[in-house]
Formats: sequence, structure tokens, C-alpha cells
Amino acid sequence: MKKRRIAILGSTGSIGTQTLDVIRQHRDLFQVELLSANNNVEMLRDQALEFDPAHVVICNESRYKQLSDSLAGTDVKVFAGVDSLCSLVQAEGVDMVVGAMVGFSGLRPTIAALEAGKIIALANKETLVAAGNVVTRIMREHNTVILPVDSEHSAIFQCLLAAQGNKVERLHLTASGGPFRTWSRERISSAKASDALKHPNWSMGAKVTIDSATMMNKGFEVMEARWLFDMEPERINVVVQPESVIHSMVEFEDGAVIAQMGVPDMREPIGFALSFPSRITVGNRKLDFAQLGSISFEAPDTRRFPCLELAYEALRRGGNAPCALNAANEVAVAAFLKDRISFYDIARINEKCLSGLNFVADPSLDDIYQTNTEAARIADDCID
Ligand code: MG
Repeated sequence: MKKRRIAILGSTGSIGTQTLDVIRQHRDLFQVELLSANNNVEMLRDQALEFDPAHVVICNESRYKQLSDSLAGTDVKVFAGVDSLCSLVQAEGVDMVVGAMVGFSGLRPTIAALEAGKIIALANKETLVAAGNVVTRIMREHNTVILPVDSEHSAIFQCLLAAQGNKVERLHLTASGGPFRTWSRERISSAKASDALKHPNWSMGAKVTIDSATMMNKGFEVMEARWLFDMEPERINVVVQPESVIHSMVEFEDGAVIAQMGVPDMREPIGFALSFPSRITVGNRKLDFAQLGSISFEAPDTRRFPCLELAYEALRRGGNAPCALNAANEVAVAAFLKDRISFYDIARINEKCLSGLNFVADPSLDDIYQTNTEAARIADDCID
């Protein structure tokens, strides 16, 4: 395989650091070309010193000088701001862009990369949630692809390699059920951010861990699957699989179901996206079936986890509804993380923004940005 030149957007976050860990194990296969972070100057500097990228970008422009000073005397070029990031991802020297930013902020640089025909390894699901229609159209126009990094979508992508052109009947997205799977509604209602951050199986960033606790994450993943695999929402089923060893499944017309399995470790889907179609070692544990003993399944409880149903509703409405839901959820989760609102306030705020939405059936990118701003404002008003 020719050495792949990689840009990592959000290199200091959970997916970013795990991506670098995979690359660290295969320096012969990958060259880091660009690293970007929002605020974490110290970690970005350490990563730059270790991986020697051509460019680093600190999105928070007020931290430019600190980063630039700390990399003085190296040949790493330092930039600041999202505009710089959007132009640098388009550089000739970049083959693949790992989208590991958090939330809506990943949209602009991802679109810039697609417009330059770059292959995207996408972990930032909010990009597809908010603007799936626009993003996939730009992807097709520029004749490139989005490879999934999200474990469920990587699993489906891997199962679909067995489809051989046959029609897919349903996708089964598995969910761990999150930290409150066995909690009563009453107990959940007084849960704090610190309770929600104790995810039983996966090591992830704070935003996605809260989304996992509300099951909004699974709702967003239904949307992500809808766009990545061009699948009608009613053909996408969610099933809780608490051990998180089946990462998702594909069902065919004859009832055959193909599942992709492994230990829950994000380095596996990251490695597959980076090296596709080859497979590489990623330093993870392997499944021990006898030790695992059994695998269990249950239906998601939408009474205790109303966000999942809200996501289906937004997807059925279509247009800019998912974008509004995503914007509301970002604001609500940020407030919950600061203990400013209660757990079920997240769903309440999301529902309010969805019902107060100024609906646009076929939103342009401008409509998406506007919807994001408006829904975030409505959500903010619910909090103060
Ligand atoms: Mg996932």
C-alpha cells in the first residue's frame, strides 16, 4: 500500500488520540500531514513533535501565539482558525481526512475536504445528522467517499462487503443501552453528568457519552446510517446488546443476518477506515467467546429514553428537522455537563426546538447554518 497521508481534525480528542495510536503502530503505512485542535495547545504540540506534520491548526485563534512559540525551531507550520483549517485540508499533500471534531463544528471543514475530493474517515456523526443530504450530494459531485469510523457504521460497512449486490432488507444497529440501561425512570431523572459519564463499555468523549446515556447517540446513528447507506428510516432497527460485542448487523431478504463482532475498542473501526480495504493490527484485545459466555438482546425503552424516538421523528419529517434537533441537543448536553439542567431536560429542550422549528423541506447549506443558529438560540432560551 502506498503511504497514506492523513489529516486529523480534532486530533486531541478521544477519536483523534486513538487514531494517532493506530498510526504510531504503522508508521510505514501512514504519514500525518495535518493535525488540528480547538484549544488543547500542550497536547497538540506534543503530537506535532512526535508525528512531524507539515501543518498544525489551532482553531481557537487566541491560542495561536502559545502554539507557535512552543513549536519554534521545528519545521511544522502553525496556523489558527477554522478558515485556515478549511483551506489546509484541501492541500495536495492530503489523501485522507479523519473527521473527529465534536458536533456541528465539523461540518465546514468536512465539506471543504469533500470539495477537494479527499476521502473522509468520518467519526463526527453530527455532520451527517445536520446536513446529510447536502454532504452526500457534495460527496457524489466530487466523486469521493465517506468511510465510517463510528463502530456501528463500520460494522455495517463490513457486513455489506458480503452483500454482493443483493438487496438489504434491514440494518440492525446495536446499542449498549448506556450507563442507565437498568435504572428506573425516577432514578434517571435525578442523574448527574458524573453518573452519565461512566459508560460501561466504550471509551469516548464527553459529548458522545452523554448522548449515549440519553440514547440520542443511537438516534443520530440511525440518521447517519440513513445517509451513509442510503437506507429508508423504517428499515433501520435499533436493538440493545449490552455486552457491545456485536457492533451491528445486516439482514438480507432470505432472513440471513450478517453480524460484525469484536471487543469494544474504537481503534478497530479507526484502523479499518485508515487502511481500507486492507486490515491491519491495532493493538486491541481479541474476543474470547467462551469467556464471554452469552450475548443478550433487548428492545430499547423509548419511555425512559425519549430522545431515540425524537430522532426517528426528526428523520421522518426530514428537511432541516434533524439539524434543529442536533443544535438543540448540543446546547442541552453542554448545559447538562455543567449541571445546569436535569437529565430529562435534555429531551424536553430537544422536543421544544423540534416543535418550534421553522421547517424547510429541502435545505441549502445556508439554511442549515441558519437552522443551527436559530435552534441553538431557542434551546438557550429554555435554559436561562
Ligand atoms: Mg457509535
